Amino acid sequence: MQRLRHILSILADGRFHSGTALASRLGLSRSAVWKQIRLLSEQYNIPVQAVQGRGYRLPAALELLEADRIIADLSPEARRRLGRLQIEWSLDSTNQWLLEAPDTPCGTVVVAEHQRQGRGRRGRAWVSPLGANLYFSLLGCFQGGPANLAGLSLAVAVSVVRALSAQGVQDLGLKWPNDILLQGKKLCGVLLELQGEAGGPCRVVCGVGLNVNMPPTAATDIDQPWTDLQHSLAQPISRQRLLTGLLDELLPAMARYEQEGLAPFLADWRRRDAVAGKPVQLLLPQRTVHGRAAGIDAQGNLLIERNGCQESYCSGEISLRTGTEPAYATAD
Ligand code: ATP
Repeated sequence: MQRLRHILSILADGRFHSGTALASRLGLSRSAVWKQIRLLSEQYNIPVQAVQGRGYRLPAALELLEADRIIADLSPEARRRLGRLQIEWSLDSTNQWLLEAPDTPCGTVVVAEHQRQGRGRRGRAWVSPLGANLYFSLLGCFQGGPANLAGLSLAVAVSVVRALSAQGVQDLGLKWPNDILLQGKKLCGVLLELQGEAGGPCRVVCGVGLNVNMPPTAATDIDQPWTDLQHSLAQPISRQRLLTGLLDELLPAMARYEQEGLAPFLADWRRRDAVAGKPVQLLLPQRTVHGRAAGIDAQGNLLIERNGCQESYCSGEISLRTGTEPAYATAD
């Protein structure tokens, strides 16, 4: 792993590096360098070009994430609220890593350049190729038990939208309870996982997967319309700057949610609600409900109009599909 990371950090400038130069910088033989290059291509889908007489290079420069630079660029408030920032090359899942690290301080953020088993809700997979997108989890600590956290995934999604809007991304929408859409396609997913007891203190791992520059070859397993930021922005986008902006929003938002609940986030949710007014299907564990989405209530429950009545649903085991959306697979 360490070697792969080192070789990629050398190639990240997008220039040619000869096999001999790489071998001497890495303290390896030329054939060992070749094996590492093959691993990058075959296992991590990084298309290293090999040109006789010139060496190896990436088709374009690649920005790897650096913790020190991110911390230095954070706002004073976010820096104060950050427990620790850890950047890993490859993890099973950033959520899993935090869930298995019980002594980690509140406000810890773990970021991975690659997830081997990135996850969505209810066992679904989150496609997470190396160095292309952002995958990170933030540990929030809350008093008062899980019941107070029903709207947290909405608050997190609103905070992500605020951070992206501040960086010039337009046409963002929110799909209850945890998706961020760009031009109607899935751009970002939020996954909250809780540890704690009813009424007691709670540790919440908030995972965010955001598509920045997804290689189409890596995305063949995504079974619903998706997009990434690069397709909608004219200039190349810095993952480093994006992550800093996201943490600037998310770290204070956790504290705000603890003090004020969903209230400071409601207006933005309603403004960006991508399904309000549309015919929808709600996939419940035992049945499917058809109706018209009518926004959310003050707790973040989904409102559905059906047979002239309004019903409210809390997220848990529910999946929402709009009438026009293809019925893509769900794991259960
Ligand atoms: P729900 O409405 O139940 O949350 P969902 O399809 O949005 O349904 P999530 O658990 O939020 O489910 O996300 C997992 C799903 O997202 C996968 O099943 C796949 O369809 C899609 N997906 C996986 N990886 C990506 C990605 N990198 N970008 C966009 N979509 C993805």
